[in-house]
Parts: sequence; C-alpha cells; structure tokens
Amino acid sequence: MNIGFIGLGNMGAPMAANLAAAGHAVKGFDVAGTTAEGVTQVATAAEAATGADVVITMLPNGEILRSVAADIISHMSKGAVLLDCSTVDVGSARAVAELASAADVGVLDAPVSGGIGGAAGGTLTFMVGGSPEAFATAKPLFDIMGQKAVHCGASGSGQAAKICNNMILGVTMIATCEAFALADKLGLSREAMFDVVSTSSGYSWSMNAYCPAPGVGPQSPADNGYLPGFAADLMLKDLRLSQQAAEAADADTPLGQAATELYRTFVEDEDGSGKDFSAMLPRLEKRGRG
Ligand code: NAD
Repeated sequence: MNIGFIGLGNMGAPMAANLAAAGHAVKGFDVAGTTAEGVTQVATAAEAATGADVVITMLPNGEILRSVAADIISHMSKGAVLLDCSTVDVGSARAVAELASAADVGVLDAPVSGGIGGAAGGTLTFMVGGSPEAFATAKPLFDIMGQKAVHCGASGSGQAAKICNNMILGVTMIATCEAFALADKLGLSREAMFDVVSTSSGYSWSMNAYCPAPGVGPQSPADNGYLPGFAADLMLKDLRLSQQAAEAADADTPLGQAATELYRTFVEDEDGSGKDFSAMLPRLEKRGRG
C-alpha cells in the first residue's frame, strides 16, 4: 500500500518503520523534522496524504489532530482511509470522522495500548471505531503494527474504549500503591504483599504485570528509578479525557475524578512530571494521614 504517516514521535516513528520494513511505501511528515527508518521524508502533511491508500496520524492531542485533518482531507483520494492512532477526546474523533465522511474518505479512530515497547516490537493493541469497510482496509496494517485490533463500533468508540481502560488503570495503580504503603506501615514485607495479592482477589495488571514496588514482581519502571514507561503526565492526560467524556455523557465517576485530581497534584504541584505513573508509590509511602 501507499501510506502517509503524520507524527513521527516516540510512537509514530517505530510504527512507521515497521510498516516500511514489511514492504509498504511510507511517506512521513513531522513538524519537528523527525523521520524513521525506511520512510521517505516529505515537506508537508498534505504531501504525505496525497496519493495514499491509508494516512496514519500519531499526534499529541485532539486540537492538533483536528487541524491536521482539516489540512489533509482535501488532498486524500476518495475511498482512502484516515487512520488516527493518537489518544484524543471522543469529540475530536467524531468531528474528524464527520469531515472525512463529507469528503468520501474512510475514517477510523484507533488508539493503542502497549507503549513504546509495543510500538517498536509490533505488538500494540488497537481499539478501533469506524465502519467495517474502513476496518477491513486497515486490518493488514494493524497486523504489522500490533498483535490485536478490536473493532469496538462506530466512530469515537475506539477512543471511548481507550479512556475507559485507562481510567481503570489510573484507579487500580493508585489503589495498588496505597495498599503497598499501608502494608509497609503494618510491617508486612513487600514480597509477601506481592505474593498474596498477585494470586488473590486484589490482583490487577498494575500489581501483576507492572508492580509499582521495586525488587518484587516482574521487571517494571520501579526497578529503573521510575523512569517511564508510561509517564504520569500521560496518565493525567488520559484521566482528564475520561472526566471530560464523563461530564459530556453525565456519567458518575467518583474514583476516576479522585484519580485525576491525585495525578494532577502529583504532576503539576509536586515532582511527578517526567516520572513513571507507578511513582505514586514513593509519593504515598512518605506520607501520613495529615
Ligand atoms: P510524541 O510527542 O513523541 O510524538 C508526537 C509527534 O507529533 C511529535 O514528533 C511532534 O513533533 C508531532 N507533531 C505535532 N504536531 C504536528 C503537526 N501539526 N504535524 C505533524 N506532526 C506533528 O508523542 P508519542 O509518545 O509518540 O504519543 C503520540 C500519541 O500516542 C499521543 O496521543 C499519546 O497519548 C499516544 N500514546 C502514547 C503512548 C506512549 O507510551 N508514549 C502509549 C499509548 C498512546
């Protein structure tokens, strides 16, 4: 396929390189001038989009996505697919879908889970919203960039799935960190905590696969000085998107709200920016109730 790839950052660059390595012709554009192995660098987003069967965007936020989409859609061929893999608000995903549909361009919102390691290794999970036809066009590309693509429903449902998942992740990470900090004060060893909880009803991905306590459980950012991994700043971004969506949909999400406020404090008022989101444990372990 002819592929345009816009946004060659930490995630986009390895994803584009994997598509090129699999034999696709990839034209890439990034405002920062970055490129990726095997990708032909072009001077504008419109140039990347012209003549492409699929245009992939991997951008920081919904505002930038809307402006890039408004710029490129008129340059895309009818029947081509705009595949956005960024994490953005549901409203932006739906607005871009409307613009694309009006121009007879297919569109998918397909945010990912799996992080930089998943992007490099081609093992991402895609959560996809959009038409079955557009999904079928993009499926061979999902198979190269990832290990699983779930078609969640109409436009916006990929982003909806992503923010619901990450709201659970933010809440369970905080709960896991709270429990470790309490266990410390009750004199329980971290090894015992991990051994019990990881095989009991308190288990979760945060405990079992990404344990926030160094030296116990599988290797995780906790064993690497809490370097991300998945940065607390990005968790805050996703939690905010979940609360924005909850407000728009009039959904009661008290723990999602509390998690958003805690990560906001950590990132904006304390020293959490640039640390992994599991660094909530060293934050909590230092504190008392006051
Ligand atoms: P990043 O900041 O490394 O990359 C974004 C890239 O977009 C940058 O290189 C930037 O120069 C480029 N860009 C910005 N405006 C542009 C424009 N107008 N035209 C062209 N390029 C433009 O971010 P990332 O870590 O690659 O994340 C990208 C998206 O993936 C985000 O929405 C993020 O939330 C999501 N995500 C990231 C991770 C992760 O672990 N990093 C995991 C899952 C999802």
